[in-house]
Amino acid sequence: MTGSQAAAPFTADDYRARMDRAARAAAGAGLAGLLVAPGPDLVWLTGYAPPADTERLTLLVLAPDRDPVLVVPALEAPDARNAAGASALTLHDWTDGKDPYAATAALLDASGRFGVSDNAWAMHLLALQRTLPGTSYASLTEALPMLRAVKDAAELDLVAAAGAAADAAFEEIRGVRFGGRRESEVAADLAGLLRRFGHSQVDFTIVASGPNGANPHHEVGDRVIEDGDMVVLDFGGLKDGYGSDTSRTVHVGEPTDEERRVHDLVREAQEAGFRAVRPGAACQDVDRAARAVIAGAGYGEYFIHRTGHGIGVTTHEPPYMIEGEEQPLVPGMCFSVEPGVYLPGRFGVRIEDIVTVTEDGGRRFNDTTREMVVVE
Ligand code: ZN
Ligand code: ZN
Ligand code: ZN
Repeated sequence: MTGSQAAAPFTADDYRARMDRAARAAAGAGLAGLLVAPGPDLVWLTGYAPPADTERLTLLVLAPDRDPVLVVPALEAPDARNAAGASALTLHDWTDGKDPYAATAALLDASGRFGVSDNAWAMHLLALQRTLPGTSYASLTEALPMLRAVKDAAELDLVAAAGAAADAAFEEIRGVRFGGRRESEVAADLAGLLRRFGHSQVDFTIVASGPNGANPHHEVGDRVIEDGDMVVLDFGGLKDGYGSDTSRTVHVGEPTDEERRVHDLVREAQEAGFRAVRPGAACQDVDRAARAVIAGAGYGEYFIHRTGHGIGVTTHEPPYMIEGEEQPLVPGMCFSVEPGVYLPGRFGVRIEDIVTVTEDGGRRFNDTTREMVVVE
């Protein structure tokens, strides 16, 4: 997050509706309200993105039976007033030397339990707790994991546009030279392409060649890519406030039969995961469908991560496509389907698309070829 306002096309009414919905969801979860700190929740609820590094308290207070209040340092108030959702809330500004916690406490049920953004500073939460010892707190993501999960039509357009931009970046990168260049150089190309196609923020540009591809956490290094390498590319960021995240695995020169076989297997697993997407299916069904294909071919022990994660105003958020997650899929949810096979010391393959749930199945927001691409 930066200090810039999200460029998303939402009105004060959209933000008012989101804040209403969040307050009702909080009441439904037995909470007295929500305390939202600067970060993705605040952007989604209000359109306001204050500087991430300020130590002064900024906090949105949502409670079921009162209007939303944004507690904000006086020096940030002019920017807060310019946020797209500002007219849907009341600003309470505070000046240095005043106690912002006492001002916030006056807005809260003194014995209530509140949902708090995961990224709220401990300093602020501890001070609130000291001011109101009868209150208690729950992580917002644990209490209301699906708060931002179901996207409306305008949000879906933005996720689709971010995906199309990432696809355009892939179409360009497949034409650049890989052999003889460092992973870090190809990653820099990818970051430049994401920006060229409209991303304001690049979150990751993984270029994992040869044996590095077997480590799903490998980001990028100085390894020189060689002829014969498989190269896992996994890249994304934010375009107009919404995320992209796609993976393709390319090969430098002609692949071996085994490399083709493993790549085909991951492609079939990705297809099976995608086909499991429909309203009412559980998140874990998507994971199971993809995993069954890989396990059935004897590679189960080499698929060492969950099948997917949600995406929206961040590139990783609920819902998670993982065994044990029984949350039913709902039209408008957006998440990745990204199985992989990782052969230690040798190579890895991952194929990832962002998918949304439709009334009768799933729709991909990434659609570059899932066949193995041979690069130079
Ligand atoms: Zn090879
Ligand atoms: Zn990814
Ligand atoms: Zn992903």
